[in-house]
Amino acid sequence: MRYAIISDVHANLEALQVVLSDIDRRDPDAVICLGDFVGYGPDPVSCVEQLRPRLAAAVVGNHDRAALGRLDIATFNPYASAAILWTRDRLSDEVRQFLGDLPETHRRPAFLAVHGSPRDPVEEYIVDAVTARASFEAAEFHLALVGHTHVPGVFVQDGERVAALPLHPEDLLELRSAHRYIINVGSVGQPRDGDPRAAYLWLDEGAGTAVLVRLEYPIQVTQEKMAAAGLPAMLADRLAYGR
Ligand code: ZN
Repeated sequence: MRYAIISDVHANLEALQVVLSDIDRRDPDAVICLGDFVGYGPDPVSCVEQLRPRLAAAVVGNHDRAALGRLDIATFNPYASAAILWTRDRLSDEVRQFLGDLPETHRRPAFLAVHGSPRDPVEEYIVDAVTARASFEAAEFHLALVGHTHVPGVFVQDGERVAALPLHPEDLLELRSAHRYIINVGSVGQPRDGDPRAAYLWLDEGAGTAVLVRLEYPIQVTQEKMAAAGLPAMLADRLAYGR
């Protein structure tokens, strides 16, 4: 199976459309989404509607839960909270139902898919080798796919050692059967690794390889929509910097 793994679309329709065209061109066997469909961006309903028929499976993110009122936003920063409250008022019943039905984990022979971490699927951030180790110990998997931090990267367990490695666009990552992996696929709609381009992961199960794809999209169009919608300016500004 050849997979396109996307995450953290965050209601950014322009980024999503560029990613979906690229995915169409490569024609994978399945598209999987790791959650945070909504929150931050100006097009929550269109993003879910365009994505939903394309997905083989998806898991729920913390912003999806928050937008449904099922997760306390007290821990969110003021910009994220404002965007969640804005989003709550705009979700259709269909989108609400779809987000509400998403599972926390999705397991296939090739991988375990979660939003945050295998240890705490919806809310934990894997930010370093220490948090990665906790997840290697907490769950059984050869490969786990995560999003949530919006920073692409790889965590590799080799015996007792856990290492954090960067994942550069177009570098071919070869998955060895003797090692275990947690791959963060980055974010489609709000990258935070200093590269403003939309990110997704191409995973080839048969070849045992993974490649991070980065794509430019018309950021200014999204920013203008956010301004028109009255979403916090800081959230529009950060798209240009990828922070
Ligand atoms: Zn997110």
